[in-house]
Amino acid sequence: MAPSGTSFDPADPPRASGPVVDYTLARRSVLAALRRGAVATTDVCDAHPELLRAGRNIGEPLDERCPVCSHETLRKVSYVYGEELKRNNGRVVYPPEWLDELVREHDQFTCYVVEVCIDCSWNHLIRAYTAGRLFSGGPVVGRREGSTNGGRRQPGHREQG
Ligand SMILES: [Zn+2]
Repeated sequence: MAPSGTSFDPADPPRASGPVVDYTLARRSVLAALRRGAVATTDVCDAHPELLRAGRNIGEPLDERCPVCSHETLRKVSYVYGEELKRNNGRVVYPPEWLDELVREHDQFTCYVVEVCIDCSWNHLIRAYTAGRLFSGGPVVGRREGSTNGGRRQPGHREQG
């Protein structure tokens, strides 16, 4: 198996094979191969300059340490892709609330969540999922089973300050 293609290219993301694709196993096997010496650090620590820049500027810090350099420099960056998104196709999701807006405005698009180390340039897909009006169930956040008020209402207010 060729070790190439482990890095995430914002201009050419891999095709997600289903509505939700978890890349945890792929990530683990890359790291195992790295430890075995089957792939070189330079093969996996080659984050695309754009991804690196996004990680630095707007990436969300992850609790985990970088699996390669062990520094607390791991960031999470999300990208959205879809023909429907037109000029927003391939854009970095920022601010995070922008994603909610896209979900309301589009039927279907794909969101890629990538981790990138801004120190050693390690990068890997975490997951890809389909989102949009047709998939408003989406990655479920705060869903409650058996809620008495239907659970359909959005929390319409937000406390300031
Ligand atoms: Zn690192």
